[in-house]
Amino acid sequence: MKRKTIAVCVTGFNWENESRIVNGIYEQCLKADINLLVFAAMVRKPEFNSEHSLHKNVILGETEIFDLINYDTTDGIIILGESIIDEKVISMVCERAKAHGIPVMNINDPLHKLDKNVILSDNIAMELIVRHLVEDHGLRKINFIGGFAGNLQTEERLTAYKKVLSENGIPIEENRIAYGEFWKKAYECTENFISSGELPEAIVCASDTMAFFCMDCLKSNGYRIPDDIVVTGFDGISDCEAYSPSLTTARLAFQEAGEKAVEIFMDIWNGKETDDVVYVDSILFKQQSCGCLKHDDKIRFDFYSERYGELNTYKEFNYHLITLNTIFANAENSSELYEASHNGAVFFKLKKLHICVRPDVERAEQNIGGTHDGYKGIAEKMLSMYNFGSSVPAGTEFLSADYVPEDILNGEKAVFYAFSSMYFKDRYIGYAAYQPSKIKGFGDFFATWLLAISNNAGSFYMKNDLKYAVDELENLYIRDPLTGLYNRRGMEKLKYGMIEQAKAQGKYVTIVCADIDNLKPINDLYGHEAGDNAILRAANAIEASMPAGSICTRTGGDEFCIILVNDDEDDVKKYIGHIDELLNDYNKTSGLPYRIGCSCGYNSIHSDRIVSIDSMMALADEDMYRVKARRKTNRSSIIN
Ligand code: GH3
Ligand code: MG
Repeated sequence: MKRKTIAVCVTGFNWENESRIVNGIYEQCLKADINLLVFAAMVRKPEFNSEHSLHKNVILGETEIFDLINYDTTDGIIILGESIIDEKVISMVCERAKAHGIPVMNINDPLHKLDKNVILSDNIAMELIVRHLVEDHGLRKINFIGGFAGNLQTEERLTAYKKVLSENGIPIEENRIAYGEFWKKAYECTENFISSGELPEAIVCASDTMAFFCMDCLKSNGYRIPDDIVVTGFDGISDCEAYSPSLTTARLAFQEAGEKAVEIFMDIWNGKETDDVVYVDSILFKQQSCGCLKHDDKIRFDFYSERYGELNTYKEFNYHLITLNTIFANAENSSELYEASHNGAVFFKLKKLHICVRPDVERAEQNIGGTHDGYKGIAEKMLSMYNFGSSVPAGTEFLSADYVPEDILNGEKAVFYAFSSMYFKDRYIGYAAYQPSKIKGFGDFFATWLLAISNNAGSFYMKNDLKYAVDELENLYIRDPLTGLYNRRGMEKLKYGMIEQAKAQGKYVTIVCADIDNLKPINDLYGHEAGDNAILRAANAIEASMPAGSICTRTGGDEFCIILVNDDEDDVKKYIGHIDELLNDYNKTSGLPYRIGCSCGYNSIHSDRIVSIDSMMALADEDMYRVKARRKTNRSSIIN
C-alpha cells in the first residue's frame, strides 16, 4: 500500500500547547510510517481582548502557507482551528479537501465542527484531582478556590468538587469555598482560610496561577506544603514544575489528542467506522504539592539545568542574530544572503532546509519599481535558493506542488517536513521548508530567525528593484527613444570618461559629426515615417560601424556625433567608409523609393594634446559640411 501523507495546518506551531499536539501527531506518524507535513504560520493571533491587531499584510503573508498544500498527494488534513489567525483558511482548506475526498480533522477547536473532531475535555479533570486527594491521600477537609462566581469554568470545576465530596459522604460547607478571580485574590482567600481558625487539609484551586498565590501565602505564614497542607492547581502550565514544591495539577491531553487524531485517520483509511466527535480526557499530573512526588534533588537539578540550557541557548541565539546581521550587511546578492542561513540551520539542528523563492522576486526586471498587480503568493514554479542537507544546487526551479526540489513523499522512510512563509511588507517572497530534529522546544527562536531572514531578504529585493528602476530611468534619460543612441545628456555624461580612457591607453580621440543627406525632401515626398526610417537606418549604420565602446549620439534632428578612441586616422576613414557601405547595401535591398545617405566629417587629436572637446566638435562639424558640399555636387537626386 502506498505510504499515506497527513497535512497539519497550525499557527503558533512554536507555542507550548500547539507543539504538544503536533508532537503527538508526529510520534504516531513516525510509528506508522506516515509522511507528516506541517504548514505552520508563525504569528499567533492576538488574545481576543488585546489592543494589538495584525496588519492585513501579516495575515496574508502568514496564511499563504496553507495554499501550499497539494491535495492530490494528501490523505488526511488536521486543522488546529483555534490557532488559525484567519477563519477563512479553515473553510478554504475544508472546501478543497472535500473536492478531493480527503477527510479533515479538527483538534481542540470547539467552535468549528469539521468531518472529524478530537476535542480536549477538562470536564472530569477536577474530579480526578479531588478524587485523588480523597481516595488516594484520605483527605476530607478540602477547601476550594474558584475564579469568579458564576463563571462557566469556575462553576464546572466547583460542581466536580462538590460531586466527588458527596460521593464520598463528605459534607459540602460553603465557608470552604472562595473566589480568587483567577489571579492574586487567591492570596487573600488563603489568608481568610488561615484566619478562620481551622486549617484545611487541602486547598484545591481552579487554576495553577491561583495555586501559586495560595502556596505563597501558606509559606509566608510558616506552613509547609504538603506536610501541613496539600495544594493543587488546574491547567498544567509549565511553571508547575518550576515552583517549589512542584504543583500537582491536571492538564489537557494535548499530546494524546494528536496521537488520537492519527489513529482515527488510520481507521478511516482501513475502512472502519469512526465517531465524528471524540473527547480526550485531561490527565492528572501528580507532583510534590500533594505529596506524591517526594522531594528529589535530582528532579530539581534536572529541571534547572534544563532551564539553564535554555538560557544559554537564548544568549547563543542572540549572538547568532548579530552575526547574521553582519553577514546580511555584506551580502552582494540574494544567494550570499541565503547562504547566511547555514549557521542557523546548524544552530537549530535542522536536518534539511530549503529556502524557496518566487522566481519573479529574484528577477528585478519583472518587478520594476517594486510594483505588483495584486497580491502574488506561492507560484506554480519556485526557485530553491538555498538547500541545506541536500545535494540540490541553489537556484534549482521546481514545482511548488512537490514542496521542495526533491521527491520527499516517496522515499525509503516517511518524512516530517514543516513549511513557513517568508514575506516582507506586501510582498510574498516564498517559504522555508525545513526538517527539525525534534518538535518539543523547537520554534520560538526559529520564528524570530525566519523573520530576520525574511526582513533582510525583503529589503534586499526592494533595494535591488529600486536600483534596477533607477538604472532604467537613467538609461531612458540619456538615450534617444527613436534610435536607442545616446542623446546630448548621455554624451555630456560620458565624454570625459572617453578622454580618460584614451589617455590611459596613449591613443587618439576622434569626434565624428554626421548629418543625413536630403532628409527634408524624403519627409516631404514620402512622409514623416520615411524620414524616421532614414534616421533609424543611419543610426544603425553608425553604431554598427564604430568600434565597441564609442559614444554614438543623436545630437539633433538628423545630426549625429560620435566620440571614439582610435590608433590613427586610417581607422577613422575605415569606420566612416563602413557607414557608407552599410547604407548603400541597405538602399540596394530596401525596395524603398528613396536613398539614405549620410555625410560625415571628423577631427582627431592625440589624447595628450586635447585642449577642448567643443573646439574638436566645431572642427568636425566644419569637416562634415565640406564633405556634404562635395557629396551634393556628386548627387543628382534622392530617388533610389
Ligand atoms: P542636407 O542634405 O543639407 O542635410 O539637408 P536636409 O534635407 O537633410 O535638411 P537639414 O539637415 O538641414 O535638416 C534636417 C531636417 O530633418 C529638418 C526636419 O524636417 C527633419 N527632421 C528633423 N528631425 C526629424 C525627425 O525626428 N523625424 C523626421 N521624419 N524628420 C526630422
Ligand atoms: Mg540633413
